[in-house]
Parts: sequence; structure tokens; C-alpha cells
Amino acid sequence: MEHKEIISLLRESDPRRLDRLWDEADRVRRRHVGDQVHLRGLIEFSNHCRRMCGYCGLRAENTLLERYRMSEDEIVAAAVEADRLGYGTVVLQSGEDPGLDTQWMCNLITRIKRQTPLAVTLSLGERDEHELAAWRQAGADRYLLRFETSNRRLFDKIHPPQPGKTGDRLAVLRRLGSLGYEVGSGVMIGIPGQTFVDLAADIGLFAELDLDMIGVGPYIAHPRTPLGRTADDEIGDDQVPNSEQMTYKVMALARLLCPAANIPATTALATLNKVTGRELGLARGANAIMPNVTPTKYRRLYEIYPHKVCIQETAQACGACIRGRVESMGRTFGIGRGDSANYRRRQGSRGQSIEDRG
Ligand code: SAM
Ligand code: SF4
Repeated sequence: MEHKEIISLLRESDPRRLDRLWDEADRVRRRHVGDQVHLRGLIEFSNHCRRMCGYCGLRAENTLLERYRMSEDEIVAAAVEADRLGYGTVVLQSGEDPGLDTQWMCNLITRIKRQTPLAVTLSLGERDEHELAAWRQAGADRYLLRFETSNRRLFDKIHPPQPGKTGDRLAVLRRLGSLGYEVGSGVMIGIPGQTFVDLAADIGLFAELDLDMIGVGPYIAHPRTPLGRTADDEIGDDQVPNSEQMTYKVMALARLLCPAANIPATTALATLNKVTGRELGLARGANAIMPNVTPTKYRRLYEIYPHKVCIQETAQACGACIRGRVESMGRTFGIGRGDSANYRRRQGSRGQSIEDRG
């Protein structure tokens, strides 16, 4: 699909033409990844972060946020619970926590792998190559790192590098691929300063990077961040709205350009539409959901943006809610790890996880 055509679909407002986009994304999803919805148990295990991302409530400068880091036993217990609830994957997510020791993470991954059959996805920010290699060696299967925006100027503005370093998420993504991880990335939709041209380029980059997983969600302003305090008169004419509909458009286009990728209906989308956001996401290109299995006492502290959904519920309640939603759509549940079809195609016979290779 041409860049111009992507821009025009992002700007589309005619309901009949939008219905055609949703139908096409749904058809391509069914043909390439089937009707199964994969469930990934999300463990938000630490909210410590050394970074100053202009959009995120976990940024180091937010000193009003109470910080936590779950113990190894707590994390393993949450992973065992995810397995008991029938999920095929755990996603271990955190801020870019300087307190995460390389060997501690290796031990954690090894324990989860010993005690459960789960695939392990990491989402720990920009980490050094030796850490990424060690965690892959310990058994981690996948890594999620959004590049947030392909507009380098905007990226540098909202995502300052660590002192003495140049932040380059694209370089980390390439490294992850060469280490054999299943690689996921994505963007926020409607970041102040993001234009339609930028967003179309982001979607083109999903295909260029040949991503195995694509996570996109609306940008949601957090008042205790610099971006969250953007004044209306700072917003340009070509600003992408951070709306629910724009999120569906990006999900649908991501499905058309990357037919075999795993695409979740994200929590940020459900935050904009608590009632049917996840269902509409699944009907417009998505094939995965990430029910939260973080112990309830920590959830409100993982406040990347305000009014996040599912912060009072237990892991069991989230599981039951999501199962009900998926069943009501007549979709089935993925059995097993739910590896990305794109990854399998890319890796060929090398596309087995470390433990599969014995
Ligand atoms: N620290 C890791 C990282 O940055 O990759 C993982 C955790 S971080 C909270 C996960 C994602 O949350 C980011 O990649 C970003 O896209 C999203 N996020 C952060 N602040 C957000 C906001 N205000 N609105 C929507 N999404 C946000
Ligand atoms: Fe830290 Fe990730 Fe939030 Fe940036 S997006 S402040 S790296 S948790």
C-alpha cells in the first residue's frame, strides 16, 4: 500500500468506506492468523524508571509516585496463576528499572520456564546488548519495545536519551531480531506534534521492520508529565487525534500491511472505550488480549496514564471478564504459547524456542 493511500485512509471519515476498511482487516486477520484470540498475562512488576519520557507517568522525575518492585516469588506466583487461568504467555513489563540486575532477571526467567509451560515476553525498555543476550539465553522468547514515532525529531523531543547515550530504539529492535527474539513494537497514536504523514510513516515502518507483534494505543495525557501539559495553542493543524477511531484505523492498517503479525487490543484502547473497545479492536484486526495478572495492590501504582482500566480487579476477575467478551464474539481461544506466525515464517526451521531445541 502506498504512503499516500495510508494517509488518505487515516483521514477517512465516510462511514461506508471505514466499514470496508474494518471488513478487509477482519478478513485478512481471519485468513492469516485465524479466529483464535491469544491471551497474554501481563505482570507489571516494577514501576521504577530511570528515563524521562515526556509522556509517561512512570518517568523518573515524577517523585509523587510511590515506587514498587515485586519480589521474585511474587512474580513467579503471578506467572503460575497466568498458567492456571489458561494463558499461554506472560509479559513481564516494567519501567526501565536500573535496579534490575541481569542475573536476577535470568534466575526469574529460568524459574518461570521450569515451573510453567509459558512463553515469556519481556518489556523492560532499552537495555544493553549483553543483558538482552543473557535473558534470551535464559529462555525469554519475545521482547516488546515500541519505537513510539518514526519522526526522529519528535522522538528526541519526547524521549530524551540517557546522559552520554543516544537513544535508538530501532537499533535495539534490530539487535533483538538478531538475538532470535520474537520482536514486537508499535507507537502511540495522537502524541502532541504527531502529524498524519508521521503516522503513515510509522505504519510503513511496521512492515519494513517485519514485526512479529504490533502494539498500538492512543496517547493519553498524564497531567504530571511535560507532554500532558501541552496547551491547545501548541497543537498544529495537521495533529493526529488521540481518538478511539484513529486507533482502530491504525490497527486495521497494521493488519493489512503485516498480515501474519500478532496484534493485541490494548489496555489504552479499553481505557478510551471501557464497554466495547476490546471487542471492536478484535473485530478490526486484533488477535490478542493482555489480561492483567499483576497483584491488585500494585496496579494503581503502575500509572503510566490516568484512569487506566482494570486497576481494582483480581487476576481471576480480569480473566473471566475477557473470556466472556471473546466468547460473546464467537471467537475461540488460542491454545498453547501463541507464537507469531510471522516469526515462524521468518525463522523457518530455526523458529523454535530455546527449550524446543533441547
Ligand atoms: N519501560 C518500557 C518501555 O518504555 O518500553 C515498558 C513500559 S512502558 C510504560 C510501555 C508503553 O507505555 C510505552 O512504550 C508507551 O508507548 C506506553 N505509554 C507510556 N505513556 C503513555 C501515555 N501517556 N499514553 C499512552 N501510552 C503510554
Ligand atoms: Fe520509563 Fe517506559 Fe515510561 Fe519511558 S515509557 S518513562 S522508559 S516506563
